[in-house]
Amino acid sequence: MSSRSVPAIINGNFFRVVEELGNGNVVVQCVPCETELQSGSTRGTKRDSSGGLKKGSFTATSNVLKHLKLHPAEHEAYKNYMITERKKNPEQPTISSFFPTTNDPARASTDDKLQMDYIIESMLPLYHIELPSFRRLVKGLKPAAKSLSYRTLSSRIHGLYLEEKCLLEKQLLEATWICCTADLWSSRRRS
Ligand SMILES: [Zn+2]
Repeated sequence: MSSRSVPAIINGNFFRVVEELGNGNVVVQCVPCETELQSGSTRGTKRDSSGGLKKGSFTATSNVLKHLKLHPAEHEAYKNYMITERKKNPEQPTISSFFPTTNDPARASTDDKLQMDYIIESMLPLYHIELPSFRRLVKGLKPAAKSLSYRTLSSRIHGLYLEEKCLLEKQLLEATWICCTADLWSSRRRS
């Protein structure tokens, strides 16, 4: 663990790791308010804005990031931190890659990421991840690969969305000038 670089959000400045639960799950404690949150790559728990435990399917990052927004100063500091860190090290690990699942360590996250990338890049409806033909493709190319569920995919995309939104907000705040192209809002069949 010490040889890997810790994901920025749980490096002790914003959250500290209290306990590793295995299977990609980890309990973290919020530094500003000391609330404990369960976080990780598996589904099952979700905390609401007051920190209460809820059943749900939220990934680690979205869970933790959502909580950090309750502390505007720390949230701002995190965004600043991420901008600097990304410049230094573009391969910042995510919480789920840092605490890989025990059943299929590093590989699971790569397979997941490949499937996720395909859906995102092609802007496909999320249900495509569960289409029998898509699953056959994944299994056909790599029998050991785990198929992603619709729920896992959507919660991971949500986490990714929150992270990217954070970074984009920060970059826009720092920019002096922004140039929008004339067709910024057009899209196919919706000009
Ligand atoms: Zn807190």
